[in-house]
Amino acid sequence: MARNHRKVWQGKKCVLCGGQRPAEDCEHAPPKVLFLGQTRPKGWEFPSCKRCNNGASSNDTLAAYVAYSQAPDAILHSTPLSSHQQKLINGFGNNLPFPYKQGHSVPVYDETTQTWKSARHVEYTDQAATSLALWAAKQSLAMWYRFIGTIASHHSTIDISLLTNAMHPDGEFEQALHSIGPSFSMSTKKNLVDQNFSCKFQCNSQKNLAVMFAQYHGGFAFVSKINDRPSAKLSRLGYQYKFSTNGHDGIHQIKSGRA
Ligand SMILES: [Zn+2]
Repeated sequence: MARNHRKVWQGKKCVLCGGQRPAEDCEHAPPKVLFLGQTRPKGWEFPSCKRCNNGASSNDTLAAYVAYSQAPDAILHSTPLSSHQQKLINGFGNNLPFPYKQGHSVPVYDETTQTWKSARHVEYTDQAATSLALWAAKQSLAMWYRFIGTIASHHSTIDISLLTNAMHPDGEFEQALHSIGPSFSMSTKKNLVDQNFSCKFQCNSQKNLAVMFAQYHGGFAFVSKINDRPSAKLSRLGYQYKFSTNGHDGIHQIKSGRA
């Protein structure tokens, strides 16, 4: 399998670090661990260099952990976990610090029973949030390539806003679109909805600016914005994390994205 992938990516560039390094590997974004025992949607494999591909597999585990633990069922009903999920969480507990601060309860609407229930509102530790934001930046660069078909350049900035289970995903996405200003018409829309993974993607007609939203297992989500025309000042919304990418450093955090 690995050999086949290597052949497929021959002559391509890594889509995660500005197209400056030859692809040697296949990056699965979203990673396989988010689709345990489930069918993973096709076409989400990306040419990547070894460094970006190996970058932080512990972040994949972290993302899977928060996705499973924030799935509406887990939040509302404390449903017993599947053996796959339990295995994942055990492995997680052994290797990484717990990602949540002490939670408090918030009312959440349960669509199954059509009633309001008390749910745990999760808040990330700073360390977990930084790792998840870096992970989200990688997913965003992959989505850019998937929907636009070109590699986001090394001039790109990637703004990430992590959502928690007490935030309204659609509202946050609309707010992100609004924040880039009326002069940018975000006419090109793509959507994908799967049981495990859903995303929305909108870009302008020049295809150098995009806003996207991704959600995993109906809980864990982020909104991001990639700007491949960095001369334009766009940020009116205070994004939590700002990244850039290039062949030398790979995806890396840069100064605060606050306007
Ligand atoms: Zn790379």
